[in-house]
Amino acid sequence: MSQRQLSFDTLQLHAGQTPDPATGARAVPIYQTTSFIFKDFAQAKGISSAEEAGYDYTRIINPTNEVLENRIAALEGGSGALALASGSAATATTILNITHAGDEIVAAKTLYGGSFNLFVNTLPKHGVKTTLVDPIDPENFRRALTERTKAIFVETIGNPDINIIDFEAVGRIAGDHGIPLIVDNTFGTPYLFLPFNYGANISVHSATKYIGGHGTSIGGLIVDGGNFNWGNGKFPDFTTPDPAYSNFIHWEKWGNQAFIVKARLHYLRDIGACLSPFNAFLFLQGLETLSLRLRRQVETTQRIAEFLQASPDVDWVNYPGLKSSPYHALAQKYLPKGPGAILTFGINGGFERAKKFIEALKIFSFLANVGDSKSLVVHPATVTHGQLTEAEQRLAGVKPEQIRFSIGTEDPDDLLWDVAQAFAASR
Ligand SMILES: *Cc1c(COP(=O)(O)O)cnc(C)c1O
Repeated sequence: MSQRQLSFDTLQLHAGQTPDPATGARAVPIYQTTSFIFKDFAQAKGISSAEEAGYDYTRIINPTNEVLENRIAALEGGSGALALASGSAATATTILNITHAGDEIVAAKTLYGGSFNLFVNTLPKHGVKTTLVDPIDPENFRRALTERTKAIFVETIGNPDINIIDFEAVGRIAGDHGIPLIVDNTFGTPYLFLPFNYGANISVHSATKYIGGHGTSIGGLIVDGGNFNWGNGKFPDFTTPDPAYSNFIHWEKWGNQAFIVKARLHYLRDIGACLSPFNAFLFLQGLETLSLRLRRQVETTQRIAEFLQASPDVDWVNYPGLKSSPYHALAQKYLPKGPGAILTFGINGGFERAKKFIEALKIFSFLANVGDSKSLVVHPATVTHGQLTEAEQRLAGVKPEQIRFSIGTEDPDDLLWDVAQAFAASR
């Protein structure tokens, strides 16, 4: 197999796994254990000090989680990955791993509500300030950079604007400044978008969404692109001796895996947001069908977007697959397999009609999630961005008449029927 460059559809089933040598189990076993027996003192010392590879304690490392980590790294083309308890833990851990009090982040203002809160309300209490910029013009990122800026953070497909960033341009700006570009690739997934091919250095995922794909488990992943020079003088944690680990220097010891190994050794150790092996198993089940689900979901989303755009019940539709979208050209360049399966639209009749419409839907589930195989609907101003002030909602692009669909794998004609009957019921 090693002589052939295997395709995504094959890797999503096989990458990162060597069938269990003890039993030959075909499925990835769930190593539901807190700890692992040391052979002897030498091994105990070696593993505990990170001088030797091996398993000691599931907060830090677990063989089931490791298959998930290696599989996502293979699918996205990274040098390594880390599984965490949630997408939020993945984002917070990524920022903690590269900042100190006094540092700054520059982020697109079109962010997931939870990330918005992390950057705007929580991190400043710990001395890390974020400047939010309008991502429509890449130069806005450059203008916001200072000497203390340690990263640029964007999402593959912004929420709720369903906007797409000019990744190569923003990646060049980050590179010129000697800082990493971090991409939250939750809405893209490695099937639709490969961030490291377009200037990104780190990606984070809420595995809760498309990777799991069935709405059963909360989890997150960080992927290290292995393509950033942590020895450029801006990141002393990577280039000075670490007293907690026999004074080794992470950048020298781990090379292109320095970012992801340090995240594990420092932040799984100290914050402890580790993923349950059982949930890792469910994410592996989900990954096996990622591309199959997304091909169907993207195709159906395009049909629904076109239906909505032609409907007198709708004032506007945000979906980059539509020719009228300001992000259509960027979508074709960066997401040629389709710009995801999430769209937002403004219902004619404002908030009151949005309420009636959502309550009248029969197949779509009204809940706060995306990326399920089942179709989902939410009112962002009430739910996903409900904790933001009105001014913050306007900044993030949230509007009262706005409805968000996450399109599943149901029969597309059944979904179109559901939307039409709910328009009629809400008229
Ligand atoms: C859901 C989500 C998160 C947070 O992930 P959790 O697993 O819910 O913690 C982060 N970013 C995006 C884009 C998301 O959709």
